[in-house]
Amino acid sequence: MNHFSYKAGAARIEFGRGSFARLRDLVSDLACNRAVVLATAQQTEIAQSAQNHLGPTAAGLYARAVMHTPVEVTEDAVAYCDSVQADCLISVGGGSTTGLGKAISYRTGLPHIVVPTTYAGSEVTPILGQTEGGLKTTINDPKVLPNAVIYDPELTDSLPLKMSVVSGLNAMAHAAEALYAQNRNPISTVLATEGLSAMKDGLALIATDPNSKPGRDAALYGAWLCGTVLGQVGMALHHKICHTLGGSFNMPHAETHAVMLPHTIGYNAQAVPELLKPIARVFDGEPGPALFNYAKSIGSPVALKDLGFNEADLDRAASIATSNPYWNPRPFDEASVREMLQNAFDGAAPPHATE
Ligand code: NAD
Repeated sequence: MNHFSYKAGAARIEFGRGSFARLRDLVSDLACNRAVVLATAQQTEIAQSAQNHLGPTAAGLYARAVMHTPVEVTEDAVAYCDSVQADCLISVGGGSTTGLGKAISYRTGLPHIVVPTTYAGSEVTPILGQTEGGLKTTINDPKVLPNAVIYDPELTDSLPLKMSVVSGLNAMAHAAEALYAQNRNPISTVLATEGLSAMKDGLALIATDPNSKPGRDAALYGAWLCGTVLGQVGMALHHKICHTLGGSFNMPHAETHAVMLPHTIGYNAQAVPELLKPIARVFDGEPGPALFNYAKSIGSPVALKDLGFNEADLDRAASIATSNPYWNPRPFDEASVREMLQNAFDGAAPPHATE
């Protein structure tokens, strides 16, 4: 894939193998010269590479990002940034690290550059989820949107196969729900369709050969597009159910999205088949069953029971996921969500439209 630059709204995008080395230029373009690199403890090595690329503009490293963006960690990181007189932030990692960068930037106004190493897509959304005292809250504010993103597929070459597959399916879930979003537009639909197609091809190549460069390139390109639509339009039943399973039952984020996707999209496809035609086309079949077969073919988990979910919690999950009304293209109730969850728990294929 050729190297290209893209600018839209507030965010600048640099895409291409080797573009990580442009980090210092991006910091200079923001008129900054004291950058703090953020990472998880597991990714200190790549964070150190970021510091090497930054040269004298590196002001420090905070490698304590964790899942769910706890407010205590953010406050500690803000104090660290103050202590080293940071004038910008570089998040290198997955959605958890990007979340920390967004949380600091939101509080301090520091410019924020993200270098994603998974397919989560958070780097191009104005959404910040954070937790305090076990409660998750979400902020949707243009101030949260990072200033620039460097998509260097080389940094995803190390992403383990299992994580690549579920992270990619998590990205696809954003694009799938964007196709029927109430506030969708022709551009979001084009982006979502292209994102699904690129991610589908990318993951298929990676599943066969995790070192496939065309596969890694296509998947990261797809992740950008899928993340972009997540930031532009509203999500529905799929995201609500996954939010419930993650928030109330501590289920793993990307894996849960991967398992639920065929069931929620299959359910909605029966109400809006026209809007989900891009999925039927890209995956060559009826959306629910076709997504299920595709997920299996690339080695994704397909059953909540295999992710450690407790069957006795299915009733409560259905009840929580339907406790507050929200828009979805197909009406639903506790019983229909319970049925979807049972199928997902068992690892059964979603029903065909005619069944
Ligand atoms: P993650 O950031 O939690 O990363 C998972 C693990 O993988 C971490 O230990 C990380 O260090 C490691 N890792 C990341 N990249 C790697 C690589 N290339 N090689 C080896 N290891 C690597 O997981 P995620 O799925 O990227 O992000 C999930 C989080 O992001 C969730 O909390 C979710 O809510 C959030 N999210 C937010 C938005 C948004 O718009 N706000 C969008 C999507 C996801």
